[in-house]
Amino acid sequence: MSSQKISIGVIGVGHLGQHHVKHYSNMNNINLLGVYDSDSVRGKIIANTYDTKYFEEANELMQKCDAISIVTPTKSHYDVANSAISNFNCNVFIEKPITETIIQADELIEEAKKRGLIIQVGHIERLNPALRVLDNYNLNPKFIDIQRLAPYTVRGTDVPVVLDLMIHDIDILLSLVKSKVKSIHASGVSILTNSVDIAHARIRFENGTVSSITSSRVAKDKVRKIKIFQENLYSTIDLLLSQTEIYNITKDKHLIENALHIEPFPEKNDNKYIIYEKPEIDEYDPLRAELDNFVNSILKKEKPIVDGIAARNALNVVIKINDMILKDLN
Ligand code: NAD
Repeated sequence: MSSQKISIGVIGVGHLGQHHVKHYSNMNNINLLGVYDSDSVRGKIIANTYDTKYFEEANELMQKCDAISIVTPTKSHYDVANSAISNFNCNVFIEKPITETIIQADELIEEAKKRGLIIQVGHIERLNPALRVLDNYNLNPKFIDIQRLAPYTVRGTDVPVVLDLMIHDIDILLSLVKSKVKSIHASGVSILTNSVDIAHARIRFENGTVSSITSSRVAKDKVRKIKIFQENLYSTIDLLLSQTEIYNITKDKHLIENALHIEPFPEKNDNKYIIYEKPEIDEYDPLRAELDNFVNSILKKEKPIVDGIAARNALNVVIKINDMILKDLN
């Protein structure tokens, strides 16, 4: 990198990629060099909209860049990322899921590590402010219940619901539970497509934490909710409405005095109370936060919030869940 401004390009400027271009075009600490899309008509429209250059060849763009956002369909992530890393020494932001297979993800991670390059993956929910607010709490979950429901749209149905939607929640789950997965039970059904549209997984961790995750792309309304239960704490997080509510059992006078609502906790007669908190949630665009995290990680040579290894670990669990569902169906 020649200066403190990094040169960035975007490959794949469809539904999501256009927003990468929009955010990069507003950042001060980068040079947005241009875009490439295999659909040149689409590529030129987005380049014109954001006043940047359309490159006729992906290689030509990669050659000029320090970093690339890869926002193409999942089946092409490996080839595009491998070329960016191995041929052109680019840091890469890859939309989720990182790749189709674990072998591909491991190869990219290994190659990037050898070259001191950053891989960040677009598990955008990890940047959701309603989830980030929990960084201020001491979490040690015993049970986590996650629901992600979405009305049917064609986008994303090229892969089973587990790889499209559930992967977000598996990534969140693995970030909340600091333990290895011990066992997985999963089942699912096809309703509208030829692949699995509704899936449920039960995951137990070595430290005893249990989780239940439901994902569906056959729903009337969107739902994205997480419930966390642990000793003396219960939290509900609405990722869609950006709301987090916390019930704590405490005898801390300061917390009790400042609580929105308190209830005596009579079972144990030792001045404990159930207090209700609704922490203020920051307002920001999670995609912008993700891309800022990518740029800052490159500039400061720091690990991004969702690196290649985290994305690989989420993919590993998701592939196991998917295989289990398919086995169960056949
Ligand atoms: P899309 O189909 O709208 O856009 C993909 C674009 O890539 C298209 O313009 C297509 O012409 C182009 N393209 C296809 N193959 C290419 C290649 N080899 N080289 C260059 N361009 C190519 O898809 P989308 O909804 O924007 O999804 C893109 C990626 O983003 C997928 O991996 C998807 O899983 C991911 N995604 C993530 C989230 C999230 O919440 N993080 C949400 C939506 C999509």
